[in-house]
Amino acid sequence: MKISLVKKLSISFFLAVIGSIILASFISNYTINKEFKRYLVDEHKSKINNVIKIAEELYSNQINISKSNEAELQRYAIMQELYIEIKGLNDNTIYSSGNSHLYHKAMMGNMMGHMMNNTSEKNTGEYIENKYPLVINNKNIGTIIIGYFGNSYLSTASVSFINTLNRSFIFSAFIALIFGLMISIIISREISNPLVKITETSNKMRAGNLEVRALVNSNTKEIDELSNSINYLAETLKNQEMLRKRLTSDMAHELRTPLTTLKTHVEAFIDGIWEPSSERFEAFYEEIERLTKLVDNLRNLAKLEQTNLILNKSKLNISMEIEKIIESFKPLYIKSNYELTSNIASEIKAMVDKDKFKQIMNNLLSNSYKYLKENGRVEVILKKEKQNILIKVIDNGIGIPEKDLPYIFERFYRTDLSRDKNTGGSGIGLTITKTFVEAHGGKIYVESGLSSGTTFTIEFPNMISS
Ligand code: ADP
Repeated sequence: MKISLVKKLSISFFLAVIGSIILASFISNYTINKEFKRYLVDEHKSKINNVIKIAEELYSNQINISKSNEAELQRYAIMQELYIEIKGLNDNTIYSSGNSHLYHKAMMGNMMGHMMNNTSEKNTGEYIENKYPLVINNKNIGTIIIGYFGNSYLSTASVSFINTLNRSFIFSAFIALIFGLMISIIISREISNPLVKITETSNKMRAGNLEVRALVNSNTKEIDELSNSINYLAETLKNQEMLRKRLTSDMAHELRTPLTTLKTHVEAFIDGIWEPSSERFEAFYEEIERLTKLVDNLRNLAKLEQTNLILNKSKLNISMEIEKIIESFKPLYIKSNYELTSNIASEIKAMVDKDKFKQIMNNLLSNSYKYLKENGRVEVILKKEKQNILIKVIDNGIGIPEKDLPYIFERFYRTDLSRDKNTGGSGIGLTITKTFVEAHGGKIYVESGLSSGTTFTIEFPNMISS
């Protein structure tokens, strides 16, 4: 049987509260009772000593007890709930606070009364009589008998004290229970409410609504993280969905253009409008080439993503390699009246896969070239910074709209600007570049503004071997 989180948490918290209260009450009750009894027993001992002391003082001056002294002993006996008897050396009773058995009975009655009133069971114990020698000036002059109940130290006041204590224990346990119940309900709700919201959000996502977000305001770290993850997941799924749709329509577009050209040309042949000529067959060939390139690109990318990239690393003077690549691009730039400059730190060497490194640089430089406009300028920088190798390719071209920036490394993603420019790109150059850079343990970033142009930065970790 599944129970809701609120119920489960409430019940668990509540049980924990009850358990703690019972345990705490038991331990404190036990300790207090023990300590209190010890205190009473000590009190009782000092009471007896007091009786003996009073009796000794009374007899220190006179051998016969006077009426007033008797009254004092009597008062003490009643007050302290004791039976006191003083006997001479011949076992003759000199003083008695009353008939011990009657006293016993009377006290029993008294105690029973208390028991009934307080409805708590108190053991009055056996009636005990103890004899103590009455010694004055080192001379034994008689015996003093003190009688009390086994538990007589549980005097009326003590019994009522213990009862009050127990009542206050029960009362505070009751208050603690109510308090614990309230807190447990509040905490359970605080934990479960955001979880319920997150579940609702993910259910909506499952149903296909990727616009929903879990609006949870929790001060619990884990819940906050969970809600952020769900929102991030929704955002990622939404982007993936958008990319998937865009990819399908882009691919359809890429395939349709050559196919339409081929179809119209073939129709013109069939209808006899066009004579087959070698130029027209060449145009055919170009379109078929475009299609083949597209299919090859798709296949290469699939391979790239399937297998772990195997790098054939060797120590390469990347300063020299970049200079060479720049030189090879220069004629192209000059032809289009563009400027290609460089700022290359010399003798930077690294362990890299030469072919892949060349492809990275070629992709970036041909992109920059493709997306330049009038007065186009590109600068390539190579430097070492904090043990990292930094390569920057900075252009003042058409730039990348901010909304496209997060996606340009995605497969087949092209901005509308680049489509309009009709560069013939297929949107996988940057995907491959990124894969190669990351395979070397590096990172690639892009910064771009529509008016300022684009900067690609590659950061290779410390791979210097010399
Ligand atoms: P493509 O073959 O279309 O150039 P890429 O993967 O190399 O494919 O680039 C993806 C998209 O990123 C390009 O279509 C273009 O929209 C944008 N892009 C890449 N480099 C630049 C750049 N230097 N300036 C402006 N846009 C760029």
